[in-house]
Amino acid sequence: MFANCSRTLKKNSNLLNILQRLESTLVIAEHNNETLLPITQNALSAAKKIGGDITVLVAGTKCKPVSELLSKAKDVNRVLVSESDAFKGFLPEAVAPLIIATQKQHNFTHIIAGASAFGKALLPRVAANLDVSPVSEIIDIKSSDTFVRTIYAGNAIQTVKSKDSIKVVSVRGTSFEAAPLEGGSAKVEEAPAGDYNTDKAVFVGQELTKSDRPELTAAKVVVSGGRGMKSADNFKILFNLADKLNAAVGASRAAVDAGYCANDMQVGQTGKIVAPDLYIAIGISGAIQHLAGMKDSKTIVAINKDPDAPIFQVSDYGLVQDLFKAVPELTDKV
Ligand SMILES: Cc1cc2nc3c(=O)[nH]c(=O)nc-3n(C[C@H](O)[C@H](O)[C@H](O)COP(=O)(O)OP(=O)(O)OC[C@H]3O[C@@H](n4cnc5c(N)ncnc54)[C@H](O)[C@@H]3O)c2cc1C
Repeated sequence: MFANCSRTLKKNSNLLNILQRLESTLVIAEHNNETLLPITQNALSAAKKIGGDITVLVAGTKCKPVSELLSKAKDVNRVLVSESDAFKGFLPEAVAPLIIATQKQHNFTHIIAGASAFGKALLPRVAANLDVSPVSEIIDIKSSDTFVRTIYAGNAIQTVKSKDSIKVVSVRGTSFEAAPLEGGSAKVEEAPAGDYNTDKAVFVGQELTKSDRPELTAAKVVVSGGRGMKSADNFKILFNLADKLNAAVGASRAAVDAGYCANDMQVGQTGKIVAPDLYIAIGISGAIQHLAGMKDSKTIVAINKDPDAPIFQVSDYGLVQDLFKAVPELTDKV
């Protein structure tokens, strides 16, 4: 009886291995022509979990450093590169046709990108063109056709089985480890040639925020302020604390809407999703839409003068105090 069970288990796991080997995933690299954005490493881990061959597509203007970097990434079998002025600004109108051409040539079973602004603008176009339903912002993979994602601002978890022949999937970066960028030796090849210029959109320019602080979604420590900060000027006390902790600074939507800080600092359902080692929520009540963006943080600290604030229900450490007293004291002590 036991022998039979173990034989069946072994047979099933062999079958799973064979099925996994049949998968082939195209991961869309997100980069700035010089460096890779960390969310691509998370997407690579998701691709690894699906199993089978992994190909990475790098589209850019002069993106050789990125393709070289990816060719050394563990578990990557092939890097496809397409360099063209058409990809200036990484317009989805230009990149999506390249992905579709690549798909037509190579017949991948999965197409994956990070659930960033880049991936969110790109994948629905690709999925519509391939006539499949995209599966957005997955947080886990059960099998090559079954994915886990959150719904209702993170209040419910949904498991979705996709019956489409090609799975077009965006990956929540905070839910997958970053794949290592060494230990591999993938071949680098040209992606399908074509005219990817588009008249649907024109890249005019971009102004990027310059900051010495770590990027919000990649920071190990995040200090966030809410409406309780009461003014843009008061955010300075958060910046002082953040500088001592080498932290990024985030905000609630109420703080952003009130003009206390820039909207690229917003954390939450309609802002950025973060999962740092340490998240310090200051003057933030803990609305579900805010929690949706930070509740996977490893350690959560809350400072709020209201002992009944919902943020204390998700925090590991809570301090009930006026933030204008607590934050400068904390800053002095670290
Ligand atoms: C569709 C939708 C999407 C949304 N998306 C997001 C999102 O992405 N991110 C997000 O954050 N919100 C989002 N919201 C808004 C969300 O519902 C809340 O309104 C918002 O998070 C509240 O921000 P807050 O906690 O800063 O403000 P409040 O709820 O007003 O809380 C302020 C807190 O500060 C405390 N406080 C005040 N003064 C002090 C002091 N001196 N010392 C200590 N504590 C003090 C108060 O006790 C209170 O708990 C969304 C809402 C909707 C409907």
